[in-house]
Amino acid sequence: MSGQFFFSLLNPVVTAMLATTFLLLWRKRPDQTYLAILSLSFFACGLAFVANDFMQPFDSPLSRIVANVFFLAATVGACIGALLRAKVAVPVRFFALVCGLCAVGFCWFLFVSPSTEARIYVVNAAYVVIGSASALALIRARPSSGLDWTFVVLMVCLISLGIIRPFAALMDNLDTYGGGTLRYSAYWATVQAATPALAIAVGIAFLVALAERMNDELRLEADRDFLTGLLNRRGFHKGVQLALAGNRFRTIRPAVIMVDIDNFKRINDEFGHAVGDDVIAAIALVLMKHGEAELTARTGGEEFTLFYRTGTNEDLLERAEDIRLAVSQTRFAGIHGECPVTVSLGLYSGARHDTISEMMAAADQALYEAKRSGKDRAVMGSDAPFPGDASLDRRQFRQSSTG
Ligand code: GH3
Ligand code: MG
Ligand code: MG
Repeated sequence: MSGQFFFSLLNPVVTAMLATTFLLLWRKRPDQTYLAILSLSFFACGLAFVANDFMQPFDSPLSRIVANVFFLAATVGACIGALLRAKVAVPVRFFALVCGLCAVGFCWFLFVSPSTEARIYVVNAAYVVIGSASALALIRARPSSGLDWTFVVLMVCLISLGIIRPFAALMDNLDTYGGGTLRYSAYWATVQAATPALAIAVGIAFLVALAERMNDELRLEADRDFLTGLLNRRGFHKGVQLALAGNRFRTIRPAVIMVDIDNFKRINDEFGHAVGDDVIAAIALVLMKHGEAELTARTGGEEFTLFYRTGTNEDLLERAEDIRLAVSQTRFAGIHGECPVTVSLGLYSGARHDTISEMMAAADQALYEAKRSGKDRAVMGSDAPFPGDASLDRRQFRQSSTG
């Protein structure tokens, strides 16, 4: 067996490994369609090399057509995969038109006016157009990370190969004849050598992208409360920090509302823990609908906090009253008899120098006051407590609604 034989095995082996990897990954994550498309794309690439290098008879028109159909399918598949990953619309009709024109041109220069060079130009023109359209679509979607740009760079590599090789052939710097067949030409050797490098680069980029997506999903899950789907305390603090990062010059006056379910222990005791869970989830829905907050979180067992980037006392009182009324008018599954479900609310509209901890402490004191004065009401806290100061002397509360 010749060295050429083993060199020809390189592409089918590499692409088969990549195709299998992405097939297995897709079976684990069937929601990620681009993994299946990539797998097919790598399979098609491997089959193209098999058709070109091993199919008998080597130089029949059929083997050339089959090989080029698979090459085109592999290129289009990889581009579609990159677009789907970036959630960019795939220009299906445009791709179909380019493939159609490529097929017509290829067949023309195979049967009507046979020319190996002309077929090389036609096929590479299709790669360049499809690669350019995909790169432009990715750029228009505003790549935000290094990884997003990596996919644009890979498209540029595809475009460059599609321009440089035919150009070198045109300038007589790359032999396409190979003693009678393209298969033994220098041109084909560059295809055999460059494709595994590009295929591996594409495979690694997609694997890193998948790992990053899974990491993002885990991070998101860690910031969410399982029962309500709201942010948990950790997610809430992160969200507030992000929202206040743009407030370096303290130009805005953020606000918080703390909501606590009244007599929740009694609900649990009388109707069971499962009904209690349903009440918590239902109140979370009320808060999302009526709270109109920038961030809504379950910050304790039966306690929620809403964050507003800006909010005057009047805005907050109006919002709190909406929430209080909505909760008192909600029918909760599993709750019957004389057991009204109500909430108490502690409000605080921050002074410009307040941190989120100070704001929450002030809202918590207002909530305490709402509980102390009879529950089912909203109370506006008027001053943030000083950190570490347990005295209530500097905190005054104004009861705003008596429910
Ligand atoms: P108050 O009106 O003063 O707020 O009284 P309360 O009974 O609501 O408050 P308390 O803090 O005494 O009790 C809160 C209860 O919430 C205690 C705890 O068992 C219950 N709880 C905490 N988390 C969950 C949960 O996820 N599901 C259910 N069903 N109960 C929870
Ligand atoms: Mg409570
Ligand atoms: Mg509580």
